[in-house]
Amino acid sequence: MDNVDDVFSELKKRELITKATKVAPSSNYPNFKMSRGTIFYNPKFANLDHEILRLILLHEEAHRHKRQNSHLAFWMIISLFAVSEALLVYGTRSNTELMKAMFSTVCIIYIPFLLFYARIFESSIQKDEYDADVRAARIMKKEYLVNRPSVLTERAIMETRRRGPDDSLLLSIYNLLYGGMHPSDKERVERIKSLVDDS
Ligand SMILES: [Zn+2]
Repeated sequence: MDNVDDVFSELKKRELITKATKVAPSSNYPNFKMSRGTIFYNPKFANLDHEILRLILLHEEAHRHKRQNSHLAFWMIISLFAVSEALLVYGTRSNTELMKAMFSTVCIIYIPFLLFYARIFESSIQKDEYDADVRAARIMKKEYLVNRPSVLTERAIMETRRRGPDDSLLLSIYNLLYGGMHPSDKERVERIKSLVDDS
């Protein structure tokens, strides 16, 4: 039994996490991740303090209830890729000059469209994260009488960042392209301060 198990069964006993949710250690994930009804956690976070773990597990449980935004965006982007793939095959197989001209036009329109689309995708994920943050913070305030959940959130973010992996090259490129759209840690904390602490 580690701290995650302890906190998880406590939250279940208090019915703050549904019966169907499971928990399992897995080093395949950098920190915590709700996937198909199971909260996976990297063992290196197994003994964070109880208060932080309550907040994190409640955040992941919130994803169980509400992840439509990311899912919708995910499937829309997959279909877009499928369509582009089909166009590519069709375009390269065709021999007529007209088809070639049409194909290059589509490419010119398509690339900026895809970049724009990824931004929409990003803001949907962002919304799911904000919603999960607020839901977890509200429960901590109501059920555990945490006066300023934003302070606890800040601590949880710092703890998971400190032990987390260094930013990958892919993530750096991503941040360079979409840095402005990504919810920063500061924005997440500020949002809880105004929506939960001061209400
Ligand atoms: Zn999340």
